[in-house]
Amino acid sequence: MGRVVIVGAGHGGAQAAIMLRQLGYAGTVTMIGDEPELPYERPPLSKDYLAGEKPFERLLIRPERFWAERGIDIRPGERVVTVDAEAHRVTTDRGEAIQYDRLIWAAGGRPRALPCPGGECGDVHRIRTRADVDRLVAHLGEAERIAIIGGGYIGLEAAAVLVKLGKRVSLFEAQERLLARVAGPALSAFYAERHRAHGVDLHLGASVAAIETDPASGRMTGVRLAGGDGTPGMLVPADMAIVGIGIVPEVAPLLAAGAAGDASGVSVDERCRTSLADIFAIGDCAVAANRFAGGARIRVESVQNANDQAGVAARTICGEDAVYDAVPWFWSNQYDLKLQTVGLSLGHDEAVLRGDPAAGGFSVVYLKDGRVIALDCVNATKDYVQGRALVLAGARIDPLDLADASRPLKELPQ
Ligand code: FAD
Repeated sequence: MGRVVIVGAGHGGAQAAIMLRQLGYAGTVTMIGDEPELPYERPPLSKDYLAGEKPFERLLIRPERFWAERGIDIRPGERVVTVDAEAHRVTTDRGEAIQYDRLIWAAGGRPRALPCPGGECGDVHRIRTRADVDRLVAHLGEAERIAIIGGGYIGLEAAAVLVKLGKRVSLFEAQERLLARVAGPALSAFYAERHRAHGVDLHLGASVAAIETDPASGRMTGVRLAGGDGTPGMLVPADMAIVGIGIVPEVAPLLAAGAAGDASGVSVDERCRTSLADIFAIGDCAVAANRFAGGARIRVESVQNANDQAGVAARTICGEDAVYDAVPWFWSNQYDLKLQTVGLSLGHDEAVLRGDPAAGGFSVVYLKDGRVIALDCVNATKDYVQGRALVLAGARIDPLDLADASRPLKELPQ
């Protein structure tokens, strides 16, 4: 009957186990995860869980009994340290050796550390796990001024929550605009304006040179920005920092076992197979060709990608003919703004604004060579839903039509 071992009990790992049973896989399913909790949803960590508006129990991907009822053997708090691809065996930090017939590597990534003096100070936090947020929240009472380093989604969501909690928030982004890696300039400008309007002290083009600490107490005193020509830059006082500057994929044991790829991700084919026999990789740690990025080999960090790749790996293991070809989607909640994105805007050559940002709801439609490749929709769910079909089809639509928000996207001539 066989045994599937899943490494990582996050979004991808949990979905792979669920799918295997849904597809009727009757062998042993063992899921090894180094966090102490049962699989839980990560997105609320920088949203309602940080805000204290959702208890942890409501983050669980499935209730505790679900796993036992389906005979899924979960081992929380255990970490896989080596993979022997030849012997089909993993070993854990408890010294246990576990045989597998198929291995699904779903180990995600760890937050990139702040590469500057003071980066290791105890007042510097990150948001990747429940433990990270619990530790941060436990210290929130001591912090009045909070520095957020990184203007991506996690940093921006945290800023929105902390402002609401009455904190004085400064945000530092090294690029000249927010969300530079994932969105076009119009969306960046909109979010910069909204955050400033809510009182965030936003610093763009601001490289952090050091976290300054008090030599006597070791506590953080502020963020030192990089200056020019060897002169020290501005010091912005802060009692706590939250760093959100991306992740480093957790792939070292797989690479050591000989898998193709490098520190920026393990390489998989359209069925989520690594170069090693019977080993799959899915989610944040996997690099795959993506049709919605013009075929480029990329890592996609989203729940959608982790879940859909989990489905492909599970189907392949169950003997089905499945290939990964899912349209990417993502969301972010900040203040009263619900952003929904579909497609990947990377490489667009035209961006069309649809609706009025000042009115609170609008979309940006991204085109490449005249075809719709992505949409960012702010409080515009109808555009998001209807835009999905346009992205899937790579629809050619006149930009003047796209800009006319009075006409539903699904009614525009193609
Ligand atoms: P993870 O969910 O990270 O799971 C990997 C698990 O493997 C972790 O528990 C890790 O500790 C464990 N692990 C690592 N190495 C080992 C090992 N050697 N042995 C055993 N276990 C190991 N996506 C969205 O689509 N929308 C959002 O709004 C959104 N918001 C987010 C907010 C935050 C704060 C964060 C951190 C992420 C957010 N994401 C969001 C991204 C999304 O959560 C990830 O893309 C998704 O969790 C990836 O799933 P995964 O299974 O690849 O990795």
